[in-house]
Amino acid sequence: MLPAIFVSHGSPMLAIEPAEARDFLADLPRLLPERPRAILVISAHWERLRPAVNAPAHNETIHDFGDFPQALFDLQYPAPPAADLAHRVAELLTAGGMPTDIDTRRGLDHGAWAPLIVAWPDANVPVLQLSVQTRLGPEHHFRLGQLLAPLREEGVLILGSGSFTHDLSSFRISGGRIDAPEQDWVRSFADWMVSALREGRIDDLLNYRTRAPEAVHNHPTEEHLLPLYVALGAGADRTSHLHQSTTYGILRMDAFAFG
Ligand code: ZN
Repeated sequence: MLPAIFVSHGSPMLAIEPAEARDFLADLPRLLPERPRAILVISAHWERLRPAVNAPAHNETIHDFGDFPQALFDLQYPAPPAADLAHRVAELLTAGGMPTDIDTRRGLDHGAWAPLIVAWPDANVPVLQLSVQTRLGPEHHFRLGQLLAPLREEGVLILGSGSFTHDLSSFRISGGRIDAPEQDWVRSFADWMVSALREGRIDDLLNYRTRAPEAVHNHPTEEHLLPLYVALGAGADRTSHLHQSTTYGILRMDAFAFG
């Protein structure tokens, strides 16, 4: 059975810029017990008021960012879509009391393709996305993951893609250097989260916003942390801390396996 995975995608530059997190992602397929038959990405960059899965005829590569090198805009990730699986996901969630839309137009945003182009560069594993509902918080996303858990036995990799810390308003602190020293307020939050995940303190994790140090500072909005809760919900019985690194002093690039 596949674990559910959370990865931090950080800056879109992940797709082309050398970094420890990039090396980790390149190894990720070898850490899995089997090759996934499809990948369901819960992306921080697709926000909807209620759950939606995509099932287009072709997965368009969406370059949903602004001021970056042309090399990033030139990247394409034409992974096959997974329409049958989209219907299966919508069935599972709807049966669990979370009515889910199927979007036949949307392709893959960089929350999906930036890590995938590193991990599965051949783009030959079918990929679909599930949206986040930022206003509904951790508990809703944990429940989403619980409802999706049966997919782990069906060869589907549940892949939450966000960022373990994500206060982009502090980006100037780094001076644009990917190896800038980690900020104390980043470390204290990340340390608390890692301990809570390792110890399986689900109630603390669901209430991280009031219980973790510097929570709101590290996540002024929650969309980049919520994919972690989907992966956690899909495999809350066991947590493995797969990767830890920091980019630009403020973006923790941690990854976890659940289940
Ligand atoms: Zn992002």
